[in-house]
Amino acid sequence: MFNTFILFQHDNNHINYRYMVHHRALLFVIIIGLNASACNSQNRNPAVTQYDHEQFLNKITYTIAMSETANNEKVVRTDAEWKERLSSEEYRILRNHGTELPWANKYNSHYEEGIYLCKGCGQSLFHSDTKYNSRSGWPSYWAPIREDAVIEKEDRSFFMVRTEILCSKCDSHLGHVFDDGPEPTGLRYCMNSAALHFVPKEEE
Ligand SMILES: [Zn+2]
Repeated sequence: MFNTFILFQHDNNHINYRYMVHHRALLFVIIIGLNASACNSQNRNPAVTQYDHEQFLNKITYTIAMSETANNEKVVRTDAEWKERLSSEEYRILRNHGTELPWANKYNSHYEEGIYLCKGCGQSLFHSDTKYNSRSGWPSYWAPIREDAVIEKEDRSFFMVRTEILCSKCDSHLGHVFDDGPEPTGLRYCMNSAALHFVPKEEE
């Protein structure tokens, strides 16, 4: 021990070498740390706000919505990612099978020509050609824009047996379907306005 101490005291080269080793080790730790944080920021999705999500939906034009032919890719998001994108009312309806109040909703009395997209993922769901006044207080359609745009699921909540309608792309709850609709299908797709995003037909 004493000898070592002497060595450190008198051998400048040795001391410098020890210093270099420590210095290099410190640099190594810093570089690894920087790499790790760079990897983390690459892997972690940047936070998406409700505004960003609205911007994403606003970029989908009538022509784009009309040209959608099939649901090829599922949209899967964590609960936290849904909460970032949706308002609390939209989240309650789309992700928690909620129902909005009748009459006092955005699209009940809305009859402009265009397409109604899924508020969750932007998939085309209904065309205004199939919208009609069901006098139920909710926007109603007699058919989805494509058969594979929606999926049906048995719903036994509230002591009733109903058929729930979900978006086939992101599995968000949209509303229910009933068999008291008009011709040609006899169906009434009773939807929540908050689950939809309307895209007007472009001027020709
Ligand atoms: Zn969707």
